Amino acid sequence: MTGVRAIDLDALKATGVDSLLLDLDNTVSPHHSTTVVPEIRDWLATLPGRGFSVCFVSNNWHDDVHERAAALGFPVVPKAGKPLPFGIRKAMRLLGSEPGACAMIGDQLFTDILGGNCAGAVTVLVEPLTHVDLPHTRVLRRLEQRIMAGRNPEA
Ligand SMILES: [Mg+2]
Repeated sequence: MTGVRAIDLDALKATGVDSLLLDLDNTVSPHHSTTVVPEIRDWLATLPGRGFSVCFVSNNWHDDVHERAAALGFPVVPKAGKPLPFGIRKAMRLLGSEPGACAMIGDQLFTDILGGNCAGAVTVLVEPLTHVDLPHTRVLRRLEQRIMAGRNPEA
């Protein structure tokens, strides 16, 4: 099991986290796809029952972001501008949550993780669902590979 489903939610909960801020593209759905992997859809559906509030935080600016989030039953902050902290903080306010109780979860070091840290959240880097990326993301991926060399994101 890799990606978001590999996250130890009990361990996160034990640190006081009760709000999950999730990236969309390549974290819960393949890049620019409206399809959500059934296993991830099922995992998402368990989160409220496990005591977590959820909000998607996406840099995606396309209209379908709202539909995708609504289909999964959670709010979304689109055009979030990660790694700037403003979109992530907006999601925190939406959930009525404090930074220390939030985990920003995503597949990119230079957007999700850097942004989450700037916003004061706990951060969790996950393996991307696909290796299809926008051109500027491909540049950042090369930098990520140098920084993450030999490390497992979920470890
Ligand atoms: Mg992503």
